[in-house]
Amino acid sequence: MADEKLPSRSEDFSEWYNQLVLRAELADYAPVRGCMVVRPYGWALWENIQQALDRRFKATGHQNVAFPLFIPRSFIDKEKHHVEGFSPELAVVTIGGGEELAEPLVVRPTSETIVGHMWSKWIKSYRDLPVLMNQWNSVVRWEMRTKLFLRTLEFFWQEGHTAHATREEAEVETRQMLDIYTDFAVNDAAIPVVPGRKSDSEKFAGADITYSIEAMMGDGKALQAGTSHFLGQNFAEAFEVRYLDQGGQLQHCWTTSWGLSTRFIGAIIMVHGDDQGLVLPPKLAPYQAVVVPIYKTDEEKATVLAAAKNVRTTLAAAGIRVKLDEREGMSPGWKFNDWEMRGVPVRIELGPKDVAKQSAMLARRDKPGKEGKTPAALEGLAQSVTALLGEIQKSMHDRALAFREAHTRVSNTYDEFKTAVETGFASAHWCGGGECEARIKEETRATHRCIPMEQPAGTGTCVLCGKPSPERAIFARAY
Ligand SMILES: [Zn+2]
Repeated sequence: MADEKLPSRSEDFSEWYNQLVLRAELADYAPVRGCMVVRPYGWALWENIQQALDRRFKATGHQNVAFPLFIPRSFIDKEKHHVEGFSPELAVVTIGGGEELAEPLVVRPTSETIVGHMWSKWIKSYRDLPVLMNQWNSVVRWEMRTKLFLRTLEFFWQEGHTAHATREEAEVETRQMLDIYTDFAVNDAAIPVVPGRKSDSEKFAGADITYSIEAMMGDGKALQAGTSHFLGQNFAEAFEVRYLDQGGQLQHCWTTSWGLSTRFIGAIIMVHGDDQGLVLPPKLAPYQAVVVPIYKTDEEKATVLAAAKNVRTTLAAAGIRVKLDEREGMSPGWKFNDWEMRGVPVRIELGPKDVAKQSAMLARRDKPGKEGKTPAALEGLAQSVTALLGEIQKSMHDRALAFREAHTRVSNTYDEFKTAVETGFASAHWCGGGECEARIKEETRATHRCIPMEQPAGTGTCVLCGKPSPERAIFARAY
């Protein structure tokens, strides 16, 4: 509904976000605290994200599977870091069919343990490797402070799980999936991300190394938008996932896991959105173009609607996701605002004068007002719209990248560091010590985001303690 104005982003970014999610009908609060209902428009966006990722997973040899929602409680206890990390967040079922269960069941927070259990049955020989699986599902983590899409008790995601014969192969897989997430974020979501390695305190419970992609939101805060974990032999040892190598020796497998969730929708909203509402990247938008017919009299209506239907047919045939807004009783201006709020990349305005000239007015969402409007001939309209969508996709990425660059500061002193994290990312040398990391967090509310894969040449000294540091890390306040 476009009747009321949203709070502006500069006034109250958090409230702007909350109201936008509700008004654009992406999601709503469920009757259970901390749970969300994803509405059709939000789910359509998620489906496009799913397809873009699933295509990439399959192209690299992964197959989809479905593991159960319930995991025996004892499984979680088998890997010591895993149980430490997840115990406080577990939802546990103790009664089924009216009777107390012999063993409590955990509602899956993630599936490494049950996957490990099954692999110990399925994997016997080096010929069974690698195993490359992925599943699309939802998981439950009992979070205390929640926010729609960003942090909810139940959320939707994909979790990839792979097993390999060698450390090298598993490391290559971990990095490959990080690259796939990066490619998806940059090319489909128009979100520039920093791929990098997590600190020990921020890594996944049970992983040897966690990699993530970090994105900067419109308020300068960071959001971890996807993770890929090298699990070493930790889960293989806990669940006895072993294979006979070519020499007849029994070896533990090397495993990985990687995930991207509905949290990513939060990133799309906060990276691209403006005071009018959502701005969706054309490659993922549920509707890429919306046709709004403009008429006053019945005669005009007949002419305009006939032309509008033609436009819809032509665009759909060209593979454009197009919507014709035929709603009665709402003015064209109201419809403009409504679709603007919902972030549709291109609006096609069609009135009697346009039809007479055999043309339409194209308005791009990423450039509001007159600046973003251009007339286009109905003849060849599909090509014009396709070209415009490509331009919008590129321009949204470039704008987000320019914003991130303008809000990332190379910080060589602690004072510079403190100023940098007020408005964005600090790129700083850090000794790698947990104490410095904890003190930085306490004093500045900024957390270690990642050690970027791309590093400038040269070494430096820790921004806090002055000890030598081989690499720069990104620190920021984060969601
Ligand atoms: Zn230090």
